[in-house]
Amino acid sequence: MATHLLPGSTVGILGGGQLGRMSAMAARRLGYRVVTFDPSPSACAAAVADTHITAAWDDELALRRFAGLCQRATLEFENIPPATIRTVAEKISVHPSADVLAICQNRRREKEFLKNNGIPCARFEVVSSAPELKNAVARIGTPCVLKTADFGYDGKGQVKIKDGSADLDAAWAQLGSPQGVLEGWVPFDMEISVIVARTEDGHVAAFSAAENIHRNHILHLSICPARISEDIARRAESLAISVANKLQVVGLLGVELFVTKGELVVNELAPRPHNSGHHTLDACETSQFEQHIRAVCGLPLGGTKVLAPAAMVNILGDVWLQGRQPDWSSVLADPSANLHLYDKGTPAPGRKMGHITVTAATVDEAVRRAEALHATL
Ligand code: AMP
Repeated sequence: MATHLLPGSTVGILGGGQLGRMSAMAARRLGYRVVTFDPSPSACAAAVADTHITAAWDDELALRRFAGLCQRATLEFENIPPATIRTVAEKISVHPSADVLAICQNRRREKEFLKNNGIPCARFEVVSSAPELKNAVARIGTPCVLKTADFGYDGKGQVKIKDGSADLDAAWAQLGSPQGVLEGWVPFDMEISVIVARTEDGHVAAFSAAENIHRNHILHLSICPARISEDIARRAESLAISVANKLQVVGLLGVELFVTKGELVVNELAPRPHNSGHHTLDACETSQFEQHIRAVCGLPLGGTKVLAPAAMVNILGDVWLQGRQPDWSSVLADPSANLHLYDKGTPAPGRKMGHITVTAATVDEAVRRAEALHATL
């Protein structure tokens, strides 16, 4: 039986990055208390939590203290050891579960889950040596991409194999991981994502698909609604919902998809709030963070309607030139723009420090203005 955790109770969040921070803010707005847990004392979610615990993921004493302080727990990034989740789950419910996490934090298990459930994904083979890689490339063909089975994100741990002349011994050495997944290259027309919320008693709600544009493998722009046909948008939402149901995830699931010649192919799953859902804070009936808290706590899910076409642009540490803070005046002066900064301290190239969401009459206008404001920083 699903239990509903009412406002006034305390929600625990494993991980203290920006996703944890924005989830904590949503939880507090709903009247929950929040405890965050992160190995870093400078975790940016700590500033908005009632209590922050700084401890390693394997510190059992600290995890038990965390579990004792809250009635339910969730997480904000998927590379938390499943043993950590299991320790907390001895005392309180944790959503998503250690089993869901084990699938989503390992590319091999994730691909096998997709394949076994008949969900369209790129053709793949698991490889554990250079000779195995050579055989797999011969079967899958080029171009293809070799990815680490474990812990890869934002394009890290990936080697593209362009054609038959590629040096596969070098590609294997470059991967530097005992196991890899070789994937056929998907000649996509667009990358999109659908964020689905699912409660313990099986209620689901999907946000409209966002169109995602990456720079250097890091999300640069997210555009909602995606510039796709209504038919593809509908199919993307129902595909994402069916993935969430098959995974039996509780909380949010970000489903990244390729659109290729009118077909949909699932690339990756993230059982948590997703960078491509930040526009929901300013452009949808309910934000993904509030939806996450609602799903985890067993409250009715909120509306997901897009209230205005939106474009979200990430602000990376790169715009802090020689330690100088960017000039925010143009963004702050624009009534259609919302500035979100995560108070993360030291900027570094590629580090996500904040984002801007612009709403406009059309997505094209929102994109144009978001890019123009980003260029002023
Ligand atoms: P990932 O870390 O798997 O999300 O990959 C990062 C980015 O690399 C994706 O957002 C795509 O732009 C690109 N990519 C990854 N896998 C493929 C593939 N099989 N075919 C085409 N592009 C890919």
